[in-house]
Amino acid sequence: MSDAVGAFSATLPELARGVYAWIQPDGSWFINNAGVITGPDGTVVIDTCTTAARTSAFLTAVARATDAQPVTNAVNTHPHADHTLGNCLLPESTTVIGHPDTRSAMLGETYLDSPPPFWNPPLPLDGLVARPPTLTCRGGLTLHTGDRVIELHHPGYTAHTTGDLIAWLPTERILFAGDLVFNRITPLALAGSLTGARRSLMWIRSFAPEIIVPGHGPVLTGAAQITRCLDDIDAYFAHVQDLADRGIRTGRQPLDMAAELDPAYRSWPDSERIALNLHRAYAEHGAAGFVFDRTAAFTDAMHLSGGPIPCCV
Ligand SMILES: [Zn+2]
Repeated sequence: MSDAVGAFSATLPELARGVYAWIQPDGSWFINNAGVITGPDGTVVIDTCTTAARTSAFLTAVARATDAQPVTNAVNTHPHADHTLGNCLLPESTTVIGHPDTRSAMLGETYLDSPPPFWNPPLPLDGLVARPPTLTCRGGLTLHTGDRVIELHHPGYTAHTTGDLIAWLPTERILFAGDLVFNRITPLALAGSLTGARRSLMWIRSFAPEIIVPGHGPVLTGAAQITRCLDDIDAYFAHVQDLADRGIRTGRQPLDMAAELDPAYRSWPDSERIALNLHRAYAEHGAAGFVFDRTAAFTDAMHLSGGPIPCCV
């Protein structure tokens, strides 16, 4: 099924028999992708969505495509709100799986109690309660459903977050990458490591996937598309690291260096993430006297946006 669903223009293309991607345009802030793997033993979903409305649209499309097979398991690729806040709309009987750091980050997150003022309009969080994973796996886990194998893998180091999991279907050679991969949208390593994020791209290549479902942006099909996208992400992060190195050497702040972002990246959605990525890079490169602070990073990103960051979730 690939018809647009509801008000969100999202689609649910079938990538292989019983394997779907929930693709939400335009993939910018809080507009994520998710996955669906279904068979005679039920359905596994990879991530949920940010809001109740978007998650309801997703689960309605899932039920329609799967003949309402029960959703037995949900995998969270990482703890961020866009991939996990909708967990609470899953059936009670669904087991939510994630890395232990995803569970602890969700338990410590304050989005629902005091939504951060970083976006315009503020996030519509009505009807949501935190529902972190109750089954955690540190290195990996294999799900067997019908005759299908779904492998969950952690890269072994911090990348987009400390608790990233990918879902890999070795028979179909489909890889659900979570936010280790952004396709034509500014990548983000605020909560992780630019070095690790770059390293994880090599790790993803090592699976030799034929299809990658990125955390944001269109599905990647075939070696040429995959290589180009992963190369683009790597080049972006390398550029950010270079800006951070020069900024640290010359005593300039992340916001000053954000002004030197290569114009080629300014047309990518969410380009103000350069400030967030620079804050992480400064901390990671051990800039003297620099203390990482999420609010300070977002304050710089909002400065680049001319106010709270526009989002259309
Ligand atoms: Zn995301």
